[in-house]
Amino acid sequence: MTTDFQLVAKAFGGPEMIVSRPCELVAPGPNEVRVRHHAIGVNFIDIYHRTGLYPQPLPAPLGGEAAGVIEAIGESVTGFAMGQRVGYVSGPGSYATVRTIAADLLIPLPPAIDDELAAASMLKGMTAEFLIHRCAAIRPGQIALVHAAAGGVGIILVQWMAALGIRVIAHAGSAQKAAMAHAAGAEIALDCPYDELPGLIREHCGDGVDVSFDGVGAASWQASLASLRRRGLMISFGNASGAPAPFSPGDLSKAGSLFLTRPTLFDYIATPEERRESAERLFNAMENGSVKIEIGQRFALADAASAHIALEGRKTTGSTILTV
Ligand code: NDP
Repeated sequence: MTTDFQLVAKAFGGPEMIVSRPCELVAPGPNEVRVRHHAIGVNFIDIYHRTGLYPQPLPAPLGGEAAGVIEAIGESVTGFAMGQRVGYVSGPGSYATVRTIAADLLIPLPPAIDDELAAASMLKGMTAEFLIHRCAAIRPGQIALVHAAAGGVGIILVQWMAALGIRVIAHAGSAQKAAMAHAAGAEIALDCPYDELPGLIREHCGDGVDVSFDGVGAASWQASLASLRRRGLMISFGNASGAPAPFSPGDLSKAGSLFLTRPTLFDYIATPEERRESAERLFNAMENGSVKIEIGQRFALADAASAHIALEGRKTTGSTILTV
């Protein structure tokens, strides 16, 4: 008798829409493998999939990363073995005890990265990797503003950039979270209202920041633009407080000939090579101590709704995982 199950959103809405349904053990097709999950990462994008901000057909699968072991291998798959430990970042569907998935999404896990650590780090850390190294291409000595700096992606951005010699100004929603961001390497960490942020930043560093890393969206949008130096770069990479209101390109001109990008991880890890390179850079940073992943919260997979309530309620710090 199988006890395997998958969690889906039966309709778009609150955490109560998350329901369990039995999971068929599908034999992998060509180029697929079946992975038995041990740990699953919780990410803000899971909430967008549940609420319908990022719509998908119902019932909507949830979850974009997991780690575990390979328990079945389809035809034509090369380079993977039964029992091998792997992790992956994917489209929705990882809130499950087991999943059949394209083999080229899998990343072999090094011995130093256990399954919980992989699930806590891959989507968030590969996001930090592409944002810092390839999207911003920010250099030592430049100044970065990071919002939600004690959050999953935020605390990795802070640590990694500090280790690279980039000056980090952190912003977070409470004094306790700001203290965490400061301990992670931020030069200063503020928990002021968003409208006070540009003034405090200019008091600290004159012209403003070179890059704003903004995953908060609606609430922080104006503060991010107003905190940038002339010709600075606004990276709007998420909507935790809601999507920013429509704006005019003229606003970029008025604020100092700013650059704006709205990047997505999946465009920066579009090929197996890019996925592996991004993961390798992250795992190296974890192994050399530049990035230390904090698992702030663990929930049982079946209790994913509680994880969503905590994440949406700004109650979490660091990474959140579901255990199987
Ligand atoms: P976090 O752990 O950062 O949680 C979100 C944080 O946002 C909260 O803890 C809170 O921090 C802050 N926040 C501010 N206002 C609100 C609000 N009204 N409601 C909820 N949270 C609020 O989440 P993740 O690390 O999973 O994701 C961070 C952001 O990065 C998200 O927007 C996510 O969508 C985005 N993302 C984008 C990717 C991409 O490819 N573009 C890939 C991965 C993540 P505080 O209290 O300190 O303000």
